[in-house]
Amino acid sequence: MDGSKRSSHGNAYFTGFGRTKRIVFFDTLISRLKGEEIEAVLAHELGHYRLRHVAKRIAWTFAVSLAFLWVLGYLMRQQWFFTGLGMESPSTAGALQLFILVLPVFTFLLQPLISLYSRRHEFEADAFAARYAAASDLVRALVKLYRDNASTLTPDPLHSAFYDSHPPAALRVARLRASPQGG
Ligand SMILES: [Zn+2]
Repeated sequence: MDGSKRSSHGNAYFTGFGRTKRIVFFDTLISRLKGEEIEAVLAHELGHYRLRHVAKRIAWTFAVSLAFLWVLGYLMRQQWFFTGLGMESPSTAGALQLFILVLPVFTFLLQPLISLYSRRHEFEADAFAARYAAASDLVRALVKLYRDNASTLTPDPLHSAFYDSHPPAALRVARLRASPQGG
């Protein structure tokens, strides 16, 4: 991906499924990292693929969406749901509007769980990379990426636990160093 026109941020990600799946490298990442370091990042992204992280995420999103639709189905039959939110005459369209309006108040509370799940996948992909590439190369690549992206190496633990899709760099590096191939 041509990312250099927009910013100096380096990144890589795995996306898609079936015939559309691909690993995307920012040109900024390729220019900043050495060959072995790019290989280690590739191993991390292949880990996301091999461990079926995209499919698992889609399955979870599907299940949670069904649960929310069930809640909507229940609420639209409750008089208090409409009157409590200031709507005098209940209707299907009204229920959908109110539901979408109040939903963020509750999905906000799911954010830490989503972040935790995402961070678990990152650790799994790191461990996968440590098996098929040198953990020390991934450590070097991570430090460069976190630095170039101006990400703090020591985030506030509570904020990080709530919002961050990726674990703090120090934690990832520590785990990679502790892996059998690390050092
Ligand atoms: Zn990742």
